[in-house]
Amino acid sequence: MSADANFKPKMLGIICNWCCYGGADLCGVSRFQYPTYIRLIRVMCSGRVDLKFIFRAFLTGQDAVFVGGCHINDCHYNPEGNYDAYSMVTFCRKLLEHIGINPKRLRLEWVSAGEGIRFSQIMNEFSREIQELGPLGSSEGIDEAELKSRLEEMAKLIPYFKLEKMKELAVHDHDETLYEGLFPTEEVERLIREAPSYYIDPEKCQACMTCARKCPVEAIISAKGQVHVVDQEKCIKCGTCFAACPPKFGAVTKLIGQPAPPPLPEGQRAVVRKGKEATA
Ligand code: SF4
Ligand code: SF4
Repeated sequence: MSADANFKPKMLGIICNWCCYGGADLCGVSRFQYPTYIRLIRVMCSGRVDLKFIFRAFLTGQDAVFVGGCHINDCHYNPEGNYDAYSMVTFCRKLLEHIGINPKRLRLEWVSAGEGIRFSQIMNEFSREIQELGPLGSSEGIDEAELKSRLEEMAKLIPYFKLEKMKELAVHDHDETLYEGLFPTEEVERLIREAPSYYIDPEKCQACMTCARKCPVEAIISAKGQVHVVDQEKCIKCGTCFAACPPKFGAVTKLIGQPAPPPLPEGQRAVVRKGKEATA
């Protein structure tokens, strides 16, 4: 039970236009009650809810997040987006658990437009649960700065997670029991432990610019005649530069589970061409 009985959590609901929002609307017009501190955002489909939305919500102070979609087989789109929501939320709970956050703070439900009373029941039950858990972070024994750092670290890895788990995140199966097994804890731990960093070796880079042209997110600081540098803040760990750097240079290194060394200071990036070093 939360130490503060008056604790009013900040709770965000991200709900689909066609079913869950209809349920919320019916709940309202039918005068069914639920706490006013739950704020709702309408999206066209629960499949639109991205992993980064969840992390952003927690990073901006939400104590809990609710995702609501149409019942399985009732999604209004083809392919059905609620399956995507299912695997995304299942994965996200595992990531939250990994950084010490109670996964119960993220809840997924299917609610039809005719289930106004059910929407109210779910909101009341979820808010009671979160009230009992208490504020995000302090209830888990994590201070504010540490919580922010852990959430930011995970949020930065989201593009990498999506690339690595593309297959699992795209599973569409009527057997709902399958989803819980999609992301075993050991696999999630391995994924995080082995997150790569890409580093350009200043001794080897010949500034041919191939990597910078191919990087999908412009994460390579590139200039003519200058050693190239991976901007680690922008890099999504796709590995394209690693594959693209010509083998005769082999300047891009993939580092597993360790950060890249700091880049050369700007004034010291002039490339020493191979073969000219001795005469320079
Ligand atoms: S790993 Fe991908 S995102 Fe990162 S610098 Fe290389 S090409 Fe760009
Ligand atoms: S492809 Fe390799 S040699 Fe060419 S700029 Fe990039 S890191 Fe340097």
